[in-house]
Amino acid sequence: MPLTPEQQAEIERQRAEPQPTLRVVSAGMEQHLYSAHPVLDHGFVRVIDYMGDDAAITQAARVSYGKGTRSVQNDEGLIRYLMRHWHSTPFEMCEIKLHVKLPVFVARQWIRHRTANVNEYSARYSILDREFYIPTPDHVAAQSAVNNQGRGEALEGEEAARVLDILKTDSMRCYDNYEAMISQDGQQGLARELARMNLPANVYTQWYWKVDLHNLFHFLRLRADAHAQYEIRAYADALCSLVADWVPFAYRAFEDYRLGAATLSAQMVDCLRRMLDGEAVTQENSGMAAREWREFESVLGR
Ligand SMILES: Cc1cc2nc3c(=O)[nH]c(=O)nc-3n(C[C@H](O)[C@H](O)[C@H](O)COP(=O)(O)OP(=O)(O)OC[C@H]3O[C@@H](n4cnc5c(N)ncnc54)[C@H](O)[C@@H]3O)c2cc1C
Repeated sequence: MPLTPEQQAEIERQRAEPQPTLRVVSAGMEQHLYSAHPVLDHGFVRVIDYMGDDAAITQAARVSYGKGTRSVQNDEGLIRYLMRHWHSTPFEMCEIKLHVKLPVFVARQWIRHRTANVNEYSARYSILDREFYIPTPDHVAAQSAVNNQGRGEALEGEEAARVLDILKTDSMRCYDNYEAMISQDGQQGLARELARMNLPANVYTQWYWKVDLHNLFHFLRLRADAHAQYEIRAYADALCSLVADWVPFAYRAFEDYRLGAATLSAQMVDCLRRMLDGEAVTQENSGMAAREWREFESVLGR
């Protein structure tokens, strides 16, 4: 359970007090506002606030005085055109503010996305919770043999059990020592800003993260991708579901022109044309290195 009963009650209180507004609202997003969507074993994402909807994108693109909507078909067509042609600034007119609870090693990857505003829980000021990410057994996997930056098959039997045991006992021992060091019971107590250095990278942190839709799509393209580490992908997948409800036209265009799309190099386009002309193109006569050829074949679904 990622939230205490008090935190859950606070969220329900917020949801029970709707306010009339002249601002644009997205019906799909209103249903998610404030609620926590669980991710991993103790994490969550929840929407704190948002600005705009699909119509706000077309409104900005047309620099319109009104709502910007000519017709639903027109709006979806325009959004798809904008996405297809990398006309990105209208997507920056929508924003989202999230509260995210995530393990520190996931936060290290996430924070590399610089085009967002972040405010993190202060472990100098506050005491961190005894919460550590422990993967489910199917995610306790061996080093990949083909990808240096990835995992392969799940570990089995005694080795899997030993790894899980190490992760759990080390986390608990580190937290016991953290608590013992900051305790002021019969001692001065080490400063929280120093004691935290003893905690492992699977400890959970929290932050508020605010980003515009263009940069959120960039984040999701990289982190909802199969090459991203499973743990950050779990958060990206949860965000994809939220965004699909918030701006359904823009999300569909994102799926078509970014998430499910592929970039072909000039060489790849040339090879594809030769293939369509009936030529037997192989890696040897393609001019591509082995790895790039493999990536090309994977795009072709071979
Ligand atoms: C699968 C995967 C593996 C990775 N492996 C590693 C790794 O091994 N080591 C590592 O260090 N990182 C790694 N990264 C992180 C990666 O290099 C990027 O830092 C991260 O994905 C953020 O992307 P970004 O800079 O495009 O995003 P943002 O910071 O959100 O920036 C968005 C865009 O804004 C522009 N921009 C932002 N800031 C600047 C700036 N200061 N100067 C110029 N342009 C700017 C760029 O066009 C950028 O693409 C990995 C990422 C992925 C997805």
